[in-house]
Amino acid sequence: MSDFVGQHLTPDETEQWAQGLLPAARELHLAQCGDCRAVADRERKLFRELAQLPRFAPEFGFAERVMAKVKIPTPSGSHLGPDADT
Ligand SMILES: [Zn+2]
Repeated sequence: MSDFVGQHLTPDETEQWAQGLLPAARELHLAQCGDCRAVADRERKLFRELAQLPRFAPEFGFAERVMAKVKIPTPSGSHLGPDADT
């Protein structure tokens, strides 16, 4: 086990690999680790499927995000009694 090349890829690194952004040092591990390759292949397939999904018009998502930020969280808890969290 001591000659194993680095640690297994994290989910983040697997995603980077699917996007072609994984550092060469980590690709070396991927080349030698069947487990990570299996996970990475699945991730890449998923990534490609997602990339092929029809997209909403940019304005739609933008408006949704703006509305989410504009919405002010209503303060809660001030009206509760002292034994509310017991
Ligand atoms: Zn691995």
